Amino acid sequence: MTKRQAVMLVCLLWLRYAGSASGQEMAKRTEASENFVVGTITAAPGTRASGFLEVPKGTDAGTRIPVTVIRGIKPGPVLALIAGTHGYEYSPILAMQRFPAKVDPRELAGTIIVVHVANMPSFLGRTIYYSPVDGKNLNRVYPGKDDGTVSERIAASITREVIDRADYLVDLHCGDGNEALRPYSYWEAVGTPELNEKTRQMVLAFGLDHIVIETERPADLAKTVYTSNTAIRRGKPAITTETGLLGRVDTNGTDLAEAGVFNLLRHFKMLSGEPQRVEHPIWIDRSEVLRSPVTGIFHARVQPDQAVAKGTLLGVLTDFFGNAVQEVRAPFAGVVLYIVATPPVSQGEPLGMVGHLKPE
Ligand SMILES: [Zn+2]
Repeated sequence: MTKRQAVMLVCLLWLRYAGSASGQEMAKRTEASENFVVGTITAAPGTRASGFLEVPKGTDAGTRIPVTVIRGIKPGPVLALIAGTHGYEYSPILAMQRFPAKVDPRELAGTIIVVHVANMPSFLGRTIYYSPVDGKNLNRVYPGKDDGTVSERIAASITREVIDRADYLVDLHCGDGNEALRPYSYWEAVGTPELNEKTRQMVLAFGLDHIVIETERPADLAKTVYTSNTAIRRGKPAITTETGLLGRVDTNGTDLAEAGVFNLLRHFKMLSGEPQRVEHPIWIDRSEVLRSPVTGIFHARVQPDQAVAKGTLLGVLTDFFGNAVQEVRAPFAGVVLYIVATPPVSQGEPLGMVGHLKPE
């Protein structure tokens, strides 16, 4: 072979190699050398950058969403991590406070978008479930709207700036300020079989052993309602996780959230090493959130993670004079995933959630 022939062969081999990579992979390879921009936040490869997504004033006051972008030096997917969809859920919020400093962008393949506190009005206002500004639940108004109330404008901003930019998403929750909860994840099996399998692998990689199978989520792109469903309906595998409880600042829920996120980074090969997947998942094939028929005071009689039989007394509702009004019982045998453990309840609000264990 002459030198000229050898050069031609190398060129041909290179063309063939380059041609075999999908357009998407090629795009990602190119992207890794470019800045990643979220709102006014620009992260160069191998760096972290933080700033705010501004949610402008509308019919009510505006707000800001604190975001950190960690841009790896190597090509890879974009993972979005959202904490503080509910502002009284502190464990994942605190996990995402310390998380960015623990990721070396020079070791990272791909990009991480961290939403530190999605719902700032609820966080600063110390409210469970609802925004103190518009009374809406941020995790019920997706994909949001730019001309709506503040919760809807937050959702619209996150849909556009975070969900639409991501390849994968985790919505990190915990028991709200009133909920005693045992850790679990949701596997929302509402996409295509291929998407559902990717999502299943994500919940197993995240590492929580109790996994609620959710099969009913709205398909209408204009009314996706939930954060994770909004991602899934846009073709992006997403999970919701629950670690922590009762507005506590304890290390357990925070550590579980952080460990789960690092497991996912290894699962996606964004960091080196193997994730600690759940070895013996407990699949919850049916679950029910029990809602209060009255406004009054709830006295829980069970603990989270407690096994219950059908009919086990979960708690008693009383009026404001201490008179028993109604007993609340388990609708079927299973495990208490969470139970409201502080006194006030309004009609229609959750009292607890019971999960039925899928037979092996
Ligand atoms: Zn929540």
